[in-house]
Amino acid sequence: MAVMPFDDRDGWIWMDGAFLPWREAKTHVLTHGLHYASGVFEGERCYAGNIFKLREHTERLIRSGRLLGFEIPYTADEIDAACIETVRRNGHAEAYVRPIAYRGSEMLAVSAQHTRIHLAIACWGWPNLFGENRMKGIRLSMARWRRPAPDTAPTASKATGLYMIGTLSKHQAEAEGFDDAMMLDHKGDVAEATGANAFFVFDGEVHTPTPVCFLDGITRRTVMRLARNRQMKVVERTIRAEELPKASEVFLAGTAAEVTPVRAIGEHGYTPARITETLIADYEALVRMSPAEVARLSA
Ligand code: PMP
Repeated sequence: MAVMPFDDRDGWIWMDGAFLPWREAKTHVLTHGLHYASGVFEGERCYAGNIFKLREHTERLIRSGRLLGFEIPYTADEIDAACIETVRRNGHAEAYVRPIAYRGSEMLAVSAQHTRIHLAIACWGWPNLFGENRMKGIRLSMARWRRPAPDTAPTASKATGLYMIGTLSKHQAEAEGFDDAMMLDHKGDVAEATGANAFFVFDGEVHTPTPVCFLDGITRRTVMRLARNRQMKVVERTIRAEELPKASEVFLAGTAAEVTPVRAIGEHGYTPARITETLIADYEALVRMSPAEVARLSA
């Protein structure tokens, strides 16, 4: 498979207030964020020229930084404008947008009080996390790693360090021939996939785990609203691992994954049906509406 390395592309990356040619957007190897995972990021999607729920992503980025003890040195308006300008400057109408804030190289030890906080924003074409075959439904393994308890890590932050367990779990899944992994939480209850939230249909109702130790995703909340707009019953609750075989439909929801049907978790097969199909269609329609319409339908 031909891969295009992420450091060798044409385009522009916004870094600390200015656009740099893509290949020159570099940071020093003694950057605190690289050694101690003192970074937070976002994943956004631009559809037909509009970044879907941009302000919510920007606010989560700022909140994520605060949970890691730092303040991003730009206002939400400035960050929104920089994201929009990055997409425009790169000539995209459809793109994945990746802002990242991280501590710099002024100090390199656990204490990082005097590090400068950097912000960079890149974007690129990225059709869907699971590629062209996702509509057939993806297959999930059960991850060996669990989501940590909220008092052992800042789990509400989209912090770079929390992705260590995600990468380990995803690699394990891929090595075993699966597309992704279903992760349990520290108590052994169902949590989420490695980069998306999970939904289950039980007796015609849409159930999703309460986001205590993982991200309460923007797509997750959007899908819950879309389901309620369709008069579906939506239940947020603790879902035990033993309940998984009883679900009739399973799907994932996330910015990169969008709404993706699941056709297996380990040994158990599922058939994506009316509820998954309806929510996929409603989500695809919503992301292409004007920001004003999106706000109206999400209220
Ligand atoms: N959980 C994890 C671990 C993720 O990486 C993501 C993607 N940001 C999500 C959930 C879904 O979040 P969102 O819908 O806000 O993209």
